[in-house]
Amino acid sequence: MKALSISNLKKEYQGGVQALKGINLQVDEGDFFALLGPNGAGKSTTIGVISSLVTKTSGQVKILDIDIDENHSLAKKKLGVVGQEVNFNQFEKVGDIIRNQAGYYGLGFRKSKENAKYYMKKLDIWDKRNEQARKLSGGMKRRVMVAKALVNNPELLILDEPTAGVDIELRRSLWDFLTEINNNGTSIILTTHYLEEAERLCRNIAIIDSGEIVENTSMQELLTRLEEETFIFDLVKPINELPDVNEFEVVLENPRRIKVTLAKDQGLNTVFKKLSEFGIEISSMRNETGRLEELFLELVEPTLKEKEQ
Ligand code: ADP
Ligand code: MG
Repeated sequence: MKALSISNLKKEYQGGVQALKGINLQVDEGDFFALLGPNGAGKSTTIGVISSLVTKTSGQVKILDIDIDENHSLAKKKLGVVGQEVNFNQFEKVGDIIRNQAGYYGLGFRKSKENAKYYMKKLDIWDKRNEQARKLSGGMKRRVMVAKALVNNPELLILDEPTAGVDIELRRSLWDFLTEINNNGTSIILTTHYLEEAERLCRNIAIIDSGEIVENTSMQELLTRLEEETFIFDLVKPINELPDVNEFEVVLENPRRIKVTLAKDQGLNTVFKKLSEFGIEISSMRNETGRLEELFLELVEPTLKEKEQ
């Protein structure tokens, strides 16, 4: 079974913004999945549709095999969502917010109390239970949101940029906590614009850009790919067959052009040496920057900038 299955999902906002242009996404049960993308890519819109806060234009969404259009209330019970914005009444007490949410999901009084206590303790907000939520710091409010999303023990937890704007300590403790509940069987999807965060936590990843999924693979495969560089070599004399090289990957694009892929730390000298051994002369070369690589510069840069500050 899939924890989440999205088919051909489109969202056009009033005014004509095409926030989602027909995305497809599958997340396995038990997975820790990252939806990575720059600002405005469509991450929150996707989560909004899954959690029925945003009306989709077309397409299908299934949570644990339950179509959200066919059985909305059952789908909702399987799902916990931590949005980007504070989603509780800040004048209420922390404990009440979390217990009431459990009640809203249909948990009985005793069970609500028990679950609320469990997650408040887990998230280190138990001693804040009698405080008015508005008095808490931003980071503490984020913990309240996580406890609220988890109080009915959802099978799928979705978090929208959970660590944006929170301090490093909370970021770390949230990472540990999410890893723990994922190990205990909860499927987790998070959106982030931090590559580092996706890298730390997630097994699988999709990258979204301008409302389209541009990449969907395992984290490991993606990282390997990012450590490679591709060059295009134009040749002086045409060749019909490639030489037999093991040191790097080479593809014959056409008789006068080859494409070489090598690890970023490998250096081009080996390539030049090897090619000249086979009598291949190069007239010009250039670095091929893929769309993915360009996108990654955008995704990695904000992290670096924040670190410099
Ligand atoms: P992300 O969460 O990846 O930053 P969003 O899903 O918030 O991206 O936004 C995707 C696109 O949809 C952006 O171009 C954004 O400006 C637009 N958008 C988001 N919400 C609305 C809305 N309520 N009305 C109109 N356009 C919106
Ligand atoms: Mg967003």
